[in-house]
Formats: sequence, C-alpha cells, structure tokens
Amino acid sequence: MKMKRALISGLAVVLAGCASGPQNSSTMDTKTLADYQREAGKFHSILSLPVFETTTNDIAQSVRQTIAAGNLALDGIGKLEPAQLTFANTARALDDAGYQAGVTQNRLEIIKQTSTNAALREAAVEQMKVLEEWLVGLDYREDVFQSLQAYADTHPKLTGEDAKLLQETMRDYRRAGLALPKAQHDEVEDLRKKLTGLETDFESNINKARQIVTFTKAEMDGVPEDFLEQKDVKNSDGTYSVLANVTWHYLTVMENAKSEAARLRLQTARDNLARAENVPLLQQILVLRDTIAHKLGYATWADFQTEVKMVKTGARAEDFLERLKAGLQPKFDAEVAEFRALKAKETGNAQAQVALWDWRYYANQLKKEKYTVDEEALRVYFPYQSALEGMFKIYQRIFGLKFQQIQAPDKWVPDLQLYAVSDSTTGEPLGLFYLDMFPREGKYNHFAQFDIIGGKLLPDGKYQRPTVALICNFPSPDHGRPSLLAHHDVETLFHEFGHAMHSILTRAKYGRFAGTSVPRDFVEAPSQMLENWVWDKKVLDSFAADYRDPSKKIPAEILGKLKEAKLATEGNYYRRQLSFGLADLALHTQIHAGNEQETVALANQIAGQTFYPEAPDTAFVAFFGHLMGYDAGYYGYAWADAIAADMATVFQGAPDGFFDRDAGRRLRREIYEPGDSRDVQISIEKFLGRPQSIAPFLKKLGINGDMPAGK
Ligand SMILES: [Zn+2]
Repeated sequence: MKMKRALISGLAVVLAGCASGPQNSSTMDTKTLADYQREAGKFHSILSLPVFETTTNDIAQSVRQTIAAGNLALDGIGKLEPAQLTFANTARALDDAGYQAGVTQNRLEIIKQTSTNAALREAAVEQMKVLEEWLVGLDYREDVFQSLQAYADTHPKLTGEDAKLLQETMRDYRRAGLALPKAQHDEVEDLRKKLTGLETDFESNINKARQIVTFTKAEMDGVPEDFLEQKDVKNSDGTYSVLANVTWHYLTVMENAKSEAARLRLQTARDNLARAENVPLLQQILVLRDTIAHKLGYATWADFQTEVKMVKTGARAEDFLERLKAGLQPKFDAEVAEFRALKAKETGNAQAQVALWDWRYYANQLKKEKYTVDEEALRVYFPYQSALEGMFKIYQRIFGLKFQQIQAPDKWVPDLQLYAVSDSTTGEPLGLFYLDMFPREGKYNHFAQFDIIGGKLLPDGKYQRPTVALICNFPSPDHGRPSLLAHHDVETLFHEFGHAMHSILTRAKYGRFAGTSVPRDFVEAPSQMLENWVWDKKVLDSFAADYRDPSKKIPAEILGKLKEAKLATEGNYYRRQLSFGLADLALHTQIHAGNEQETVALANQIAGQTFYPEAPDTAFVAFFGHLMGYDAGYYGYAWADAIAADMATVFQGAPDGFFDRDAGRRLRREIYEPGDSRDVQISIEKFLGRPQSIAPFLKKLGINGDMPAGK
C-alpha cells in the first residue's frame, strides 16, 4: 500500500537503545543528523526532520497558520497584473503553496496514525478535515485561475518539467470546470458538491451495514472450532451468528463450511448488504458522474477519470481487461475443472458445477490437499532484524546507496529508528526515513509508507530532500524471542520499502511530480516488482537463516511448494479482479440518465460473465466501496501488476539477477528519480529498453504466449 500522506507524532521521548530490534553496531554510524545536514549543504540541498506539534492547540494553530500562509500566497497570485506574470509567480508559486499545505497535512497524518496520545490523534483528525476543505477550495479560486490562464495565454516557451507543470495545472482547472463560462462552471461546482455528499453517504452506509446470518451446528461443519467458540459467534441455543459484513467472518465460513446451502446463504447476505440504501444512491451517483463528464466535454466518466492516469481512456482500460480475461481463459478453465472434480468427489454428484459461493471453499481444499506448507514453520528463518538488514544490503547494492542509522532527536515511540540515505559514490545525502515497525494501541493497523516532507526544488534554489516513514505492524518481539516474520511479511517489507526508495530518490523539481506522485495506475508497479525478490532462493539465502542455527537455510522444496500454492489459484484471483474492473468500467460508461434502473443488472451481468454468475437476487455493487474514490479505477490493480511483471524481467535477465547493479541503477535513474516529471510511459520504456509487453505477466501466471491482440 502507498499512503500519500505522512505524519508525525507528538512526543519527544528519547530513550537510548530499544526493546525490539537490537541496534546493530555495524549500521549505527557515529555521524549525526547535523553532519548529514552540513554535507547536504555542499550539494545545495536541505535535509530536515518534521517538528511535531505536542498539544491540541499547537495542531489547530498549525492549521490556521498554514491556511493563512496559503491564502496570502494565493492572493499574491490572484492580484498579479498581466505585465507581471511569469512562470515563477504563477505555476511555480501555486506548486509551492500546495506543497507547503501538503507538508502540514502529512505531519498531521503522522500524528493521527502514530501518536501515543489519543487526544492528539483526535485533534489531528479534526484539523485535517479543516485543512482538506480548504485544499478543495483551492481549485475554485477564480482570481488565481485568471492569472494562470492569462499567463498560459501568453504561450510561454517552456520545456520539460516546466511545460508539464503548466499544462497539468491548466488541465486541473479545466477538469474542475473553471474553463467553462461562469454559469456552467457554477453548475459543475454544484453538481460536484452534490456528488461528494452522495459518495460520503454511500460509504457511510457501507460502514454501517450489518447483517447477522444464523447457522446450525451441522451447517457449520468444517469451520474451525476456535472461530465457532468465540462468544460473539456462539449462541446459547447451540446456533452460530456470523456477521456477513465482517470480512474475516465471511472468509472463514466461505473457505471452510462444507455445506453449500450455508455458503450460498452467507454469500447472498453479503451481496445484499446496504442494498436498500445504496442502490438508489449509486444510481444517482452514476447519473451525476455521467452528467458532469458531459458538461466537462468527456464522453464518459471513465474517460474523465482515466485522462490523468497512464491508461488515458476508458476504452483502453477496458481493452486491457478484456485481453487479459481472454489470456487467462485456459488457466481459469483448468482451475475450475480442478475445483469441479473436488466438488464431484465430495458431493457424489458427477455433474456438480462450481458456483460463486463454492470457489473459496474448493481453493482452500486444494491448498490443503495438494500444497501443504506450514507457513508458520518458516518464521524461524526471518527474524525481523536480519530480514531488514538483508533487504538493506540488497537495496544499497543495487541502487548505489548507503543507509546509516542516526540518533533521532525526538521519538514518538522508544523503538523508533531513523536512517540517513546517501549516494554511495558521491556521498550526497538524499533523504531520511523513520521506521515505526511494531503494533501498539491506537496506531495505524496496516503496513504503509508515508511521505512526511516531500522532495522539491525550493524558491531559493536549494533542493529539499525527502523525509518519509514506514509505519508497519510486524509481530512484536516476545519473551526474549526476536520478532519472527512470516514470508508474506518479508514480501510486505520489500514492497513498502520500495515506496520509500521511490520517494527518497526523487530529483523532480516540483512537489506535484516528486517521488510517488505518479499516476495511480502506476504507483504500485515498482513495489509490486520488488516483491519478486523474496521468491528468489539466492536472495533469501543472503539473509534468511534459522535464528536458532544460522547454518540452516530455507529449504528449496518449501519455497517451491509456496510458489506452486500461490500459482494454483491465480486464475481465479485475477478473473475475480477483472470481474470487478469490468463491472466498474461498464457502470461508468453505460449508465446515464434514463437507464439508471439497470445498474444492478448490468454489474451482475458483466461480473458474472467474467467470474462466476452472481447469486440470485443479489446486488454486490451496493457494498462495493471501491466505487467511491477508485471509481473507473479498479482496472489499475491488474494494470500495475502487469507492468510490475514486465519490469521484473530487466533484473531476471541481468547478469547478477536480483542483485544486479546496472539494472538497479537504471531503476533509480529512469523510474525513481524522474517521478512524474515526465510521462511514466516514457520512463517505463527507458527502463525496459523496449516497448512494454504483457507476456511476462501471463508467463508469471503460468500462461505462455501473448494476449490476443487488442481491438
Ligand atoms: Zn504499495
């Protein structure tokens, strides 16, 4: 996952050493932050740490000051006379203003996600709302737009990143409706406000949706006892209450319940969550989106949404998904045949067919029967500190970097670690990263990289180097036993730290292009690519060893089994992804005022043709949260996976494989450094040294050959 914001936290708790993650003397340098900051000065750049607010008043004050400074900057742009207009006081000044507000936003995000003080976390949430509201209003400053438009109308001779900045700034205004005559622009603004309100309601209905499904003991045959014995699940009369809206309840039953009738009942309940409230809302939302798209000059909402992504048009997104769907057909068919054989055997019905409510159950049976791997037993090979240092060694080598742990002046938790990143050849300091890696009460509960201070060329000509944080939840060390990671934790570590590299190594001049500010259908690709590393025996052998006896490496056959198990149901995994992606695109190209009553039928039909037919009388779209915020964007998951597989071939074909310095430096130079300062399509092809191909992705899924040609 990639969180765009960063964060902070309050407290200046300074403790030497730490309870978890033993400090490794080899990585602890005697250099201080001040040394790195001085060194950065020689390269005309700045390294900084955030100064975190420590009281709720400070937080409110920061937001007030940020907004006041922002308004001042915008007023300055808005009142420029035509003769005064320059690139620096229009496009760049606007980027500066947005950047400064973003730095505050990032810091509050860190407080919200990591502070050990609940009152500070709440204040951060509240104040972020205030700041976000102000940021939304930025688009609608008519006076600022007029200055930018007047400058653009002079047709300045700009090149490269400068030209891209002006062009995309004007594109944002056009997309917000400001290029339209005043009356129409006001109308678009009203429609968008109405849309935002409905979207919020849709999401809140999803959050509120709750449905208990009651099952008998017999119906729960196969479901693990420790699930059934929970006090919320087990009823006094011997029945069980399963919550259809709680994903892990749903998954536990769908993967394990032998009774098909029970699975069907739960699937039906799940796919009817929020139906009464959200179907009418979704119909209104789709009509509004379509109307707005037309008013802005787009044929469909999908075209509007994809214009700013790599894929560029709704038709191209759909074409990609359709071709992938066709390419996956043989693999999907083979998997379904395997499930069907299991079902025929289990039910004694030779004609048994596999349904939507069956596939998770038979996928689980298949894994148990054919690919038994004790994933827990693998943890002994991955003590946290060795995995971290092993990854550091590889990334330092391939990207030409040096990471050194330095003393953090302030720590929001005692075991927080801070590192400086510098170029291994020139010594140039490139950025800082924090590691906050173990769970605690009130902390963000997933794994993500957060930007705190983004990279940017400052108005005084110095370059602000980035500061980021990895906020994770690896297993805590326990009773003298080190933190032991699962294999998928190691994969997550390689992935998230990839985002940190993308952020830190940036050379983009403008905040809006720096680091991971790339199109959303690309941002995950470089990190997805780095997940390949942890499936490579050589990579694992460079750091994975039994912590009780480091002479023991991870057995090749276990790794092989893990790979096979993963591959065994990839056809189902991707066809399901494609079913959502295609339904999402269909809704955002085919529903308009007049046919909105067909919303549910259309989504069910498209999804059913791509994966398994939907359960009778259901409306999964009512509980499909991605339709808000990721609308006409679900295709992006598979799209980025395909690019990741393609990019991985550069390392796979290199002399040193996943340790190859030339390939790593090329990734740094062509992908990480430019960020979005040039079209990412160009960056990808420069990195690949050839046009993009879908074949490596299909090959990874066990399919040889290319996808059928596009339309
Ligand atoms: Zn990610």
